[in-house]
Amino acid sequence: MALCRSFALLVKALRWATTPNPRVRPMMVVMPDEAVARRPDPSPSAHLEPHKSGRSGWLRAAVLGASDGIVSIGALLAGVAAANSDLRTIMTAGAAAVAAGALSMASGEYVSVAAQRDAERSDTEQEASELERHPDRELKELTDIYVRRGVERELAGEVAKQLTAADALGAHLRDEVGITSTSAAKPMQAALVSASSFVVGALPLLSVVVLFDSTMARTVSIWVVCLTLLAVLGSVGAHIGGASRTRGTVRVVAGGVLALIVTTGVGAAVGTF
Ligand SMILES: [Zn+2]
Repeated sequence: MALCRSFALLVKALRWATTPNPRVRPMMVVMPDEAVARRPDPSPSAHLEPHKSGRSGWLRAAVLGASDGIVSIGALLAGVAAANSDLRTIMTAGAAAVAAGALSMASGEYVSVAAQRDAERSDTEQEASELERHPDRELKELTDIYVRRGVERELAGEVAKQLTAADALGAHLRDEVGITSTSAAKPMQAALVSASSFVVGALPLLSVVVLFDSTMARTVSIWVVCLTLLAVLGSVGAHIGGASRTRGTVRVVAGGVLALIVTTGVGAAVGTF
């Protein structure tokens, strides 16, 4: 009996966990005709709730940069410290690694996001030229897209016609290609955000090395600071992105533990020669 009840509870909990956010569950709203007629024009400022995916571009670059700064500099310092190096050697290696890492993050982000932006530009040019050369075919294409999404053909045709009249290129980019102004790639922003968050993530690790004298104390303090920073980053990143804090924290900390184990081991082994 108790087993049955706990099984039912488990099924209920699972169903709850796998149901998407209740706020976005599809709802049928039946609206009287006159209410529709009296409804004011929806303007962009009349948006109902704040969303988080508009942040995804710079948020991804910031989390990646900070996490890379903490893991790579933490692991490098742990390795050099475990090899019984003096403070000067540790700081030289650390400072060089921060400069190299930040520049490498910036150029890597710039190149990859610029490639994405070039692809978006080429899509935009192609759509603009097709709209100019075959407006009828493009109108039918847009209509078909709305039909596939569940709109009746007649209504879909009307929607496509009105959206084409308002902003044909914008409608095709958004509904056919999937480019919106919030998702558009910004290479310079990604480069600056990732390089500066790399430095911000690495600096506390460099400063903690100065505080301790012995190899053991340095190694332990680097581990503690590194994993604490990663836990904070995972939690904050998950919160800003609207995801589970626990999952975000575990994901980030696990990678850090692995990197620290490897480099501390390598440093200790090399240091005994
Ligand atoms: Zn098109």
